[in-house]
Amino acid sequence: MITLDGSQGEGGGQILRTALALSAVTGTPFEITGIRARRPKPGLMRQHLVSVRAAAAVCGAQVTGGELGSTSLRFVPGPVRGGTYAFDIGSAGSTLLVAQTILPPLLRAGQETAVTLVGGTHNPFAPSFPFMEGAFLPLLDRMGFLCGFRLEKAGFYPAGGGQCVMNNGSPPGRAALVLESVPATPRVGARVCVVGLDVEIAHREMATLGEQLALDPQGTSIDRCPGAIGIGNTVHVTVALDGYSEVFTAHGERGVPAEVVARNAATQAKAFLASGAAVGEHLADQLLLPMALAAGGSFTTHVLSAHTQTQIRVMETFIGKCVRTETCGPGLYRVHVQAV
Ligand code: ATP
Repeated sequence: MITLDGSQGEGGGQILRTALALSAVTGTPFEITGIRARRPKPGLMRQHLVSVRAAAAVCGAQVTGGELGSTSLRFVPGPVRGGTYAFDIGSAGSTLLVAQTILPPLLRAGQETAVTLVGGTHNPFAPSFPFMEGAFLPLLDRMGFLCGFRLEKAGFYPAGGGQCVMNNGSPPGRAALVLESVPATPRVGARVCVVGLDVEIAHREMATLGEQLALDPQGTSIDRCPGAIGIGNTVHVTVALDGYSEVFTAHGERGVPAEVVARNAATQAKAFLASGAAVGEHLADQLLLPMALAAGGSFTTHVLSAHTQTQIRVMETFIGKCVRTETCGPGLYRVHVQAV
């Protein structure tokens, strides 16, 4: 039985999600205390609780402490089972973070699976659907983990109601992933989503992005997200790399001018472009686990975030030391991941 302190490092929901994923993959039970101890409202929120339930469903786990607000949990996994699953977060909580919890065991098991997830698909502080589609999934594919992801309806905070469907089933191929070089002038595109708001907001955001970045006009789009409820606005800047994109996201907020939202996404993209790194801050922490479960590899990144460092520590607890980082120059790091 592994024991984990949920207040370590970054102290957020990712510690729990990674523990759930690795417990299901390795068949190792764990106990965690201090869940999300460093967040203003500690304990299990809906998204985390659904992650617990989803992980328990796919590996027939016995769970103690799986209630809203709970700050401790005991999880005893069984064998991973493919099949048809549906999970409704019941709020605008991130469906994609729930998906990332159950993906590692399902991909590694390579069994036929279809999972429908209802909740948020374009959330702040979480991967958005365009990020999953452009950045994360093409790289899973390169590692030999074939996974389909379909957006049926976008869901924005606070209304939620989004839906996506994830399919996988082919036996994992396991290829090493090496992301260390970038094109001299990568193509930069943008996708602006607006729901329940004047489309003029999207035009102002696109105009600001055009002032800030050398946008490829063929790579820009305004998406009204048919079927989405409530109001929502996201700006995604995409930087096309070697068969994948980095995607930088900013979220519209009441009282924040459209130009400020667009500049936020542009600033993230410019910092990434100036660094020469192949992987941005968020992709870096999210690639570690699938790489360790595939055939390892390495990547360069310009930010070694607290999320990344915490992710490395939680992975070590379950599967031993498998990640090494080195500094390549000012603001540039190389991350080596060993397969387990
Ligand atoms: P918390 O416990 O903080 O309330 P949480 O459970 O949502 O929140 P975190 O532990 O903060 O989760 O982890 C958030 C995850 O979302 C991390 O993997 C992070 O890289 C990812 N993420 C955050 N912002 C973005 C973004 N803009 N694009 C892609 N991924 C993101």
